[in-house]
Amino acid sequence: MVNFIPQEKIAEIQQASDIIQIISEHVHLKQSGRNFTGLCPFHSEKTPSFTVNPEKKLFKCFGCGEGGTVFQFIMKQEGVDFVEAVKLAASKSHIDLSHLQDNKKASLWGAEKTHLLNATNFAAKFYHSTLLNSESGKVARDYIQKRQINDQSIKNFCLGYSPNSWDALLKICKERNVPTELLEKVGLIIPKKEGNGYYDRFRNRLMFPILDARKQVVGFGGRSLDDSLPKYLNSPETVLFNKSNALYGINIAKNAILKQHRVILMEGYTDVIMAHQHGIDWSVAVMGTSVSKQHLRQLRQYCNQVILLLDSDIAGQKSSDRNLDIFIEEEFDVKIAQLPKDFDPCDYLVAEGAESFLACVNSAKDFFSFKIEMAASKWDMSTIHGKANAINDILSTAMKMPDVIKRNLLVKWIAEEMSIDEATLRSQLKKFNKQPFTIDKKQPVEQRLDASSKVERELLYLMLSSNILIQKVLEEISLEEFTNKDFQQIAGKTVELYHKNNVVKGEDVLHILDDARLNKILMDIVTTEEFQNITDHSKMLESCMHFLKRRNNKKEIHQTKKKMSETDKVNRSEEDVDILLHEFHRKNRNIHALKNKT
Ligand SMILES: [Zn+2]
Repeated sequence: MVNFIPQEKIAEIQQASDIIQIISEHVHLKQSGRNFTGLCPFHSEKTPSFTVNPEKKLFKCFGCGEGGTVFQFIMKQEGVDFVEAVKLAASKSHIDLSHLQDNKKASLWGAEKTHLLNATNFAAKFYHSTLLNSESGKVARDYIQKRQINDQSIKNFCLGYSPNSWDALLKICKERNVPTELLEKVGLIIPKKEGNGYYDRFRNRLMFPILDARKQVVGFGGRSLDDSLPKYLNSPETVLFNKSNALYGINIAKNAILKQHRVILMEGYTDVIMAHQHGIDWSVAVMGTSVSKQHLRQLRQYCNQVILLLDSDIAGQKSSDRNLDIFIEEEFDVKIAQLPKDFDPCDYLVAEGAESFLACVNSAKDFFSFKIEMAASKWDMSTIHGKANAINDILSTAMKMPDVIKRNLLVKWIAEEMSIDEATLRSQLKKFNKQPFTIDKKQPVEQRLDASSKVERELLYLMLSSNILIQKVLEEISLEEFTNKDFQQIAGKTVELYHKNNVVKGEDVLHILDDARLNKILMDIVTTEEFQNITDHSKMLESCMHFLKRRNNKKEIHQTKKKMSETDKVNRSEEDVDILLHEFHRKNRNIHALKNKT
C-alpha cells in the first residue's frame, strides 16, 4: 500500500469526518449517553454491541471486536484499502486531495463510485421522463394502467421506460457527456460482439430503478413489454449492484419498517409497489434470488421480524428449501404468510384490498408450524418412511438454531406437534452431524492475558493518552522488554510517530498499523472502560514501571542462578563465582527494596 497522503492530512480528514453520519448510512444508531449504539454490521447480533463515540471519533463492536476510526469503518464496509477509505472520507467532508493524487492511479474508488452513481441516476431520470413524456412510452403507460399502478407510485418508485431502440440511452448519454465506460461498468450498455461500439441492455422495457438505503440508484430491473425474454431482466452484478444485498423498496420503506419493527418480504417489484400504494409501506422485495445473510443483516438494522409472503403455489416447494434456514441461522423471527391459491401479492391487493391483505399478513404462521404443515402435506405421514422423512426435514432445520436453549425447546415442541416421543426424536437428533455451535461470545481480552501483558497493555494506554509519559517510559525500559509481541509492535509504532510528530494518538497508530488483528488489539486498549476511569496517569505509570522492574529483576536473578549453577559445573575460577554472587545479592536487594515500596 503506497500511502501518499501525509499524516497531518489524514488526521485532518479524520477530525473533519462526521463519524455518526457516515456510520448512520449503514447502521441505525441510537444515542445512549455519550455514545451511539446500533446493531453491528460486521457480525450477526440481536442486541446492539456496536458503539460509536462521537467525541473520540471511534467505533467499536464489543461483540466481534471490530473497531477503529471512520477509515476502518469505510474499509470494512466498502471493502476498500486504507488509502481509498481516506479518500472517500475526504470527499464526504469536501476536503480536496486532488493535488496529492498520483494521476496514474486515478481509478479512485471514491471518486469513481460517485461517477458511476451519477451515471445510474442519470439513466433513471432519462427512463422516467421517457415513460412520462414520450410518445413511445405509451406502451409502458398502458401496462402500468392495466396493473393499476397510480401516478404517485410511478413517482415514488421512479418508474421508467427504456425505448425500443438499440442506442436510445447511448445517444442521450453522448449528448450529455456521460462517459461510455461508466455506462458499461454499471451494466447499462453491452459491447457489440462484432465490430466496435455498444448497445443498450434494456430495450422496450418497463424500468424499475433499484435504490439502496441511501437512495442511490445501484441497478435496474426491466420488465419486457413484448414477448422478448427474459420477462424480467436485471442489471448484471456490478461494483454498485449485488443481488444478494439489494432490497427493492428499502429506500422508501426503511422508516416504516423501523416503526413497525417488522418487514414484509416479497419477490416482485409490482408487489412492493402495490403494497406501498395501499399504505403497507413496510414491504420490500429480494431480487429473484434467495434471501442472503447480507439481506438479513441489512434488515436487522430496522427490525427483528420478517414476514415472508409466499405465493401459495410455490410455498410447498419453498418449505423444504434450505435457503430459508438462513433465518434460523441468523436467529431472525420469521413468519410465513400465504396468499390464497393463484394470487400474487399485487393481484391480491388489487382484488381484495389492503384490509384483507393485512389479515393474511397478520395470520402469518410461525416458521416451524409452517414447516410441519408443509412436511405433512408433502410426505405420507401414515407410513413410517414418510414420517421419518418429514421429521428429518424439520430436524435438519431445527438443528441450525444457534441458541442451545431455544433449540431444546424447539425439539420438545416439534415432538409434541408431530406426536412423536421426545426421546425418540432426541435419539434421531444424534444422527445428525452435530455442527459446532459457536456462540459468538468472546472472552474479554484482558482475561486471557498474563500479568506482564496486562501491565504492558496499561502502559500502552498511558503512552497513548498522555504522550508526556512516553519519554518517561523510554527512560526506564526499552521496548524490547515488552514480552507481548503485539504490544511491542504497537508500542514501537507509537514511539515512532511520537518522535516524528511530537504527538501521537491511538487513531494515528491505527492508521499506520495496517494489520487488522493489531488494529483490534489497539482498539481494545483505547476503548477499555476501566482505563477511562484512571485519573492519575503518572501514578499509574509508576506502578506499571514498578511491576516491570520487579519482573525484570526476577528474570535476571533467575539467569544469574542459572549461570551460577553452570559455573559450578564447569568449575570456573573463584573470582567468577564471586562476581556472580555479588550480582545475585545486589539484585535480591533491589527486589526487596521494590517490595518495601509497595
Ligand atoms: Zn460486531
